[in-house]
Amino acid sequence: MTEIVIATANPHKVDEMRAIFASLIPNARLLGLGELGGPPPTEPAETGSTFEDNSSIKAVSYATATGRLCLADDSGLEIDALGGRPGVISSHYCTDGREAGMSRGERDEANNKRVLRELDGVAPENRGARFVCVMTFSDAQGKIVGQVRGTFEGRIGMPGDVPRGKDGFGYDPLFLVAPAFAATSAELSSEEKNRVSHRRSAAEQIARIIRSLYN
Ligand code: IMP
Repeated sequence: MTEIVIATANPHKVDEMRAIFASLIPNARLLGLGELGGPPPTEPAETGSTFEDNSSIKAVSYATATGRLCLADDSGLEIDALGGRPGVISSHYCTDGREAGMSRGERDEANNKRVLRELDGVAPENRGARFVCVMTFSDAQGKIVGQVRGTFEGRIGMPGDVPRGKDGFGYDPLFLVAPAFAATSAELSSEEKNRVSHRRSAAEQIARIIRSLYN
């Protein structure tokens, strides 16, 4: 059975990736960094200016550190009216990308407030946005053998109408899912979201590459 390290320090992401990949690459065993034995490898700095750069940095760094096949992802939100921001600084948009010791929940709320403030006065049809997920697969020597981009299209809702919904995380309560723009992605169940999301799309594409290389 092919063993693949999920190149993330976030245990929530390991579970999510396992759920998505279970049927896509049934012959692979996905390992979290905590399951490798010994001290976990040092987390690399995400210094890239694109999702592709940061996803590559993580895949290569963890493959080199562990000597194993590695799958990394980098994701975020692009808003057309903001020239693609928050982009690679999605998780820390409220502090312009800086780590400021806030909890994830505090950050998500402040990020969402900033997005709504910056879109003040922008009409619904001009609030187009997409979640992006770039997945990178590295061989055990740290050579990139596959990279794909998945997207999930929608719009940022109007203040008063959003935030809405209890599921999801991050910008989900603001994100009206295309083509109906009726529900936010925080109003989808995790199963519904996993069927249509940027992560699902990227996972299907990278799974095809992995199956062709290792099956
Ligand atoms: P990362 O890939 O864990 O660094 O995530 C980047 C950031 O993008 C997250 O902290 C969220 O703010 C945002 N993001 C990525 N994917 C999603 C999603 O599916 N829903 C809501 N926000 C997301």
